[in-house]
Amino acid sequence: MNEAIGISAPNVRPGHRDATAHAAEQPFRYPLTRKYVEPDWRRVPGFKDVTEEQWRSAQWQRAHTVKNLVEFKKALGDNLDDELYADIERDQHQRATMSMLIPPQMINTMDLADLRNDRVRLYMAPAFSDRHPEWTNHPMASRDSLHEAEMWAVEGLTHRYPTKVLAEMISTCPQYCGHCTRMDLVGNDTEQILKYKFELKQQERWDAMLDYLRRTPMVRDVVVSGGDIANIPIKRLEDFVMQLLGIENIRDIRLATKGLMGIPQHFLQDEVREGFERMAKIARERDVDIAVHTHINCAQQITPLVGDAVRMILDAGMRDVRNQGVLLRGVNATTQDLLELCFMLIDHAKVMPYYFYQCDMIPNSEHWRTAIWEAQDLQHAIMGYLPGFATARVVCDVPFVGKRWVHMLKDYDRVKGISYWTKNYRTGIEYDDPDALSREYPYYDPIYTLPEEGQEYWREFMRRGELQLTPV
Ligand code: SF4
Repeated sequence: MNEAIGISAPNVRPGHRDATAHAAEQPFRYPLTRKYVEPDWRRVPGFKDVTEEQWRSAQWQRAHTVKNLVEFKKALGDNLDDELYADIERDQHQRATMSMLIPPQMINTMDLADLRNDRVRLYMAPAFSDRHPEWTNHPMASRDSLHEAEMWAVEGLTHRYPTKVLAEMISTCPQYCGHCTRMDLVGNDTEQILKYKFELKQQERWDAMLDYLRRTPMVRDVVVSGGDIANIPIKRLEDFVMQLLGIENIRDIRLATKGLMGIPQHFLQDEVREGFERMAKIARERDVDIAVHTHINCAQQITPLVGDAVRMILDAGMRDVRNQGVLLRGVNATTQDLLELCFMLIDHAKVMPYYFYQCDMIPNSEHWRTAIWEAQDLQHAIMGYLPGFATARVVCDVPFVGKRWVHMLKDYDRVKGISYWTKNYRTGIEYDDPDALSREYPYYDPIYTLPEEGQEYWREFMRRGELQLTPV
């Protein structure tokens, strides 16, 4: 035995080793076959005469954003057949929680040959028959399912986590997504949903937010959101962010915008670029991290214009651009879809895959939602393909708890589809709740994913009658 180094074999140099490993067939194939190109908008009937200059103009995109089904039809022409038109119309009358708002840029990423199954259409212009016929709605679903408004420290400023807040700056976006988690607040009223209207005047509200942050040194991290910051005039956004940068305890700022994908033209305007440069410069001087968080759900929505807008933000000196997608059945809830999206994000757009959220339990969202076990399977299936730092975490935003990695549940009743979660901090409304840290908090799988016994449990629950199937 070689005592000095603790091995029993003689100290001999290892001999020749054959290198036999080689690339194997994998469940997911890389490189991608999808091309990184801007689809030609002139193939869309309503945009056939639009020039390159018009297409690249944010003003043109906003002025031609589709606001109702008649305009949607005008843009898509015969590609939107009568049956699908009537199906979407019925949804708007009976189910929709968001009104229609789709910029031309987003319409141009739809598959015109098959709008019925197109991923972007499925979440931006839902049809009645897309939804589950029996379980349209989970009986435990609710408006503001994350209780963000209950946790307002001042109107629109949610203090849920110990050191982080969410600032809901405005209640509008350049696009309205059918599955929007803030359907209680964001966008126009629908036939089903009258939206909450902020009561304080905008500047008063923003001042009150800043005042709260100045007197709450525990908060170091602010998500500046909405709605969507792409709808805040850049000078006003800059003014708010500069004031945040003047608060000593604020060390992290995240600007939230889906418009980066929906209307990248906004970010390619000179005044927006200059505003981002000024914000990034002051952040750097004050040693604060400022980044942009976006929300892209489909690989087909990553186009060179989106990539150009991201590059502008990075060149301006922002620390990063990160993606927080939402898992949506039929849209992206397969291994193939998620990995393709993540590779398009990092290979081309230079966006960091960050989170995929479970779709929240808002009314009428059941057909999009995935069960926790499905989300766990997806997390498992995407491991190992992407760099570790770019491997998105699949998370569930559990009401009264916050984001949890989907494997972190404490208990799981697979028959009733109820998972139980715990937490290690108090939200802003639990300061005098002695049980907040020992309680288990439930989250609910879509009922149609349950075994028959579980579905019958919920039918009986409904028969007992306290809750409606479509509580809108
Ligand atoms: S962009 Fe975000 S806030 Fe706006 S409608 Fe879509 S999901 Fe809701």
